[in-house]
Amino acid sequence: MSFMRKPFVAGNWKMNTNSHASAELVKAIASKAPAIAEGSVHVAVFPPFVYLQNVVKAINSSGIAVGAQDIYYEKEGAFTGEISALMLKDIGCTYALCGHSERRHVIGETDELINKKVTATIMSGLLPILCVGELREEREASKTEEVVTRQIRKGLAGLSAEKVSAITIAYEPVWAIGTGLTATPQQAQEVHVLIRKLLEQMYDAKLAEETRILYGGSAKPSNAAELMGQKDIDGLLVGGASLKADDFAAMIQSAV
Ligand code: PEP
Repeated sequence: MSFMRKPFVAGNWKMNTNSHASAELVKAIASKAPAIAEGSVHVAVFPPFVYLQNVVKAINSSGIAVGAQDIYYEKEGAFTGEISALMLKDIGCTYALCGHSERRHVIGETDELINKKVTATIMSGLLPILCVGELREEREASKTEEVVTRQIRKGLAGLSAEKVSAITIAYEPVWAIGTGLTATPQQAQEVHVLIRKLLEQMYDAKLAEETRILYGGSAKPSNAAELMGQKDIDGLLVGGASLKADDFAAMIQSAV
């Protein structure tokens, strides 16, 4: 297994915490999860933009990486309210989420826009996590494969294998995000295999084998180990449970 597929547990804080709580949360995670300092698992947190610098300072040299929940694809200029990947790199971010389901389905982002964001993220030197996943009605209509394939093909359009080697993919069935409904380890594994096969078709076997693919959707301490025990599940993207230091630390420890 490649270095890239070292277990990776990422916490998406969404629009939560505040200035004090964001720093306290990341410090508590570092102290409760010795696997981070031991280097046996990659961990990243994704605070709201306004607390990023706070969290970058608070992580000190704990080994936790910091990422942004979104970026805008232009470098700079008249884009009121937006934040570029270069700015995020400048303040110490390592990762950026692209195409999270809430950006797709609440904010209305398209595959084309997400492709621009993935491309700009890579060009800036940040590492993108491209999020994909089907809606409940799409799963019920047996369209999971079609939807995930479209999101990946369009999300990675125009990118060479070398560029795509910087990417982590997160499979997050929308019906499982924030709902308490988790995909079974078998359901998740099935889609992870499908994603790896697709990467092999689009690029090559080496890239498919080395790409890190996370599962996200109501992951919690009680199901983390079984999910990550699946051959093609390399870690978790965690929403709700990442806001509780004890739960998130337990999930990190179960990755080892
Ligand atoms: C997410 O927001 O990426 C997520 C997986 O949320 P939750 O764990 O709360 O379902």
